[in-house]
Amino acid sequence: MNALWVAPVMPDYESARATFSWRRERSRLAGLPDGGINIGYEAVDRHLREGHGDRVALRCVGRDGSVAAMTFARLAAGSSRFAHVLETLGLERGERVFTLLGRRFELYSTVLGTLRAGRVLCPLFTAFGPEPVALRMELGNARALVTTRELYERKVAPVRPRLPHLRHVLLLDPGADPPPGTLSFPALTDAAPDEYTVQPTDPAEPALLHFTSGTTGTPKGAVHVHEAVLAHHVTAAYALDLHEGDVFWCTADPGWVTGMSYGIIAPLTHGVTTVVDEGDFAPARWYGILADQHVTVWYTAPTALRMLMRAAPRDGSAPTARHDLSSLRFVASVGEPLNPEAVHWGREALGLPVHDTWWQTETGAIMIANFAADPVRPGSMGRPLPGVEAAVLACGEDGRAAVTSGHVQILQEPGAQGELALRSGWPSMFRGYLHEPQRYEACFADGWYLTGDLVSRDADGWYWFVGRADDVIKSAGHLIGPFEVESALMEHPAVAEAGVIGRPDELAGTIVKAFVLPRPEYPPDPQLRRDVLAFARRRLGPAVAPREIEFVEDLPHTRSGKVMRRLLRARELGLPEGDVSTLEAPEPAGTARPSGKEP
Ligand code: ATP
Ligand code: MG
Repeated sequence: MNALWVAPVMPDYESARATFSWRRERSRLAGLPDGGINIGYEAVDRHLREGHGDRVALRCVGRDGSVAAMTFARLAAGSSRFAHVLETLGLERGERVFTLLGRRFELYSTVLGTLRAGRVLCPLFTAFGPEPVALRMELGNARALVTTRELYERKVAPVRPRLPHLRHVLLLDPGADPPPGTLSFPALTDAAPDEYTVQPTDPAEPALLHFTSGTTGTPKGAVHVHEAVLAHHVTAAYALDLHEGDVFWCTADPGWVTGMSYGIIAPLTHGVTTVVDEGDFAPARWYGILADQHVTVWYTAPTALRMLMRAAPRDGSAPTARHDLSSLRFVASVGEPLNPEAVHWGREALGLPVHDTWWQTETGAIMIANFAADPVRPGSMGRPLPGVEAAVLACGEDGRAAVTSGHVQILQEPGAQGELALRSGWPSMFRGYLHEPQRYEACFADGWYLTGDLVSRDADGWYWFVGRADDVIKSAGHLIGPFEVESALMEHPAVAEAGVIGRPDELAGTIVKAFVLPRPEYPPDPQLRRDVLAFARRRLGPAVAPREIEFVEDLPHTRSGKVMRRLLRARELGLPEGDVSTLEAPEPAGTARPSGKEP
């Protein structure tokens, strides 16, 4: 190694927090000449201004394994063209552009062109059916949509009559006989100039609209503003250890907030190379990308890690025996609780522990993480990042933070369980739920944002996830977090994945029931059931261990990769399934993949 090369020094946790201020961090951004902030400018223009236009921004791995690169200069040109197209089409500032696109270069030029032009971007998940697509475009008052011909014909054309405000549909591949009412993306962008000057942008101007995953009910439209980019940039350095020269791969689908905040924005603002995978999940393919692209920082999701664990070869050999993963330096996860088992697996299989990070669509960026400079605590979400103040709040009967005369009660005692709250005011905080001002207001009390997740904090200040307020089980006087039970079950060699709910019981009030997906080599017979039940009872004690186990061939997941416990519960109790628009359904071959969160 070059003797002059100096590794970037990660400050230790205490000193980073002690000296941190968002105002000071603002100097990390380039900033617009008039003092404004624009996400697109930070992602693209600044690198050209700093003379780094020839660096590789995106490296796209095709389904066939081909690799194509795009420099920051080309990305700037492509997004400039799209920004001009939006102006030519007459979209006003603040009007919304939707994307229904997989990972491909045009997605990036559309997103960045929209942001640079001060229009608002809303990404949709390509695996949504026509109904969820229509619902979101109606709610979001979509003015323009960028998609492919195939997706348009299957998912948008049937619902177009419901979308009179959708003025422009731009198809990447319109073909010789384009569907009526559509425009050609290539024709429009080819005719547009390839330089664009970002106009003054107020840091509090809306930039993005993200729909939540819909795990607990109907998805909410969270509005984010341009200054969020400060949090995207800073948290990527602290929580993902992202630095100049890195090759970064975020597996999250671009239809979710993670795919935007960390799949697109954060790495571009750092000027690193982002790996863009057009293909599907397959263990060998993913290991191949990590190795061949020399990925240094990898951000993925528990559901993907569990699938890799499940696919581990029977001979016990690590993937490192077949793939050279020596470039990999940092692995992180988000979206669902990260079972300790997955952290240990990372150490053995990848040679690195997996760092859990916690956040939500509403927080816009990582809030709590196993800090890069700290040793990982398996099973813990980590500690609040610099600039983030968190607390555990006492809950009332309904399992949410109790607010008395406008005040909340902070639980200081280590191990006490309560609702996770964040002191409001960080740059990437959502600024509203679309059309639901009261629901937004109800998220705040006494200067805190209430997350809806239950946690505890240990004596050293590390946070431990207990469950979503809706998922927590009250059984025979105990408060049981499904995560703890699921993690214990996963330590049994036969268990690939588990989903745990409370089921009403005449005697106990509620009993714990586990739905267990066995690993392929274990037949789900009564003997295995007894074995897993006994194992759980030894690990958890009789009060917390499941009373019932049902073997399943699949667990319901949201398309962002979360186990939908409310659906398990509804099915168990014969209740209506509620909003299942984000349920992962079996898709035609070639489209299914475990997308990282998303939160
Ligand atoms: P909805 O709000 O519509 O029900 P959702 O909460 O699943 O959907 P997201 O914003 O995508 O939508 O997900 C955020 C949630 O995901 C968090 O509130 C938390 O419950 C869960 N989550 C994310 N990361 C973690 C983590 N590291 N550990 C535990 N839970 C996590
Ligand atoms: Mg939520």
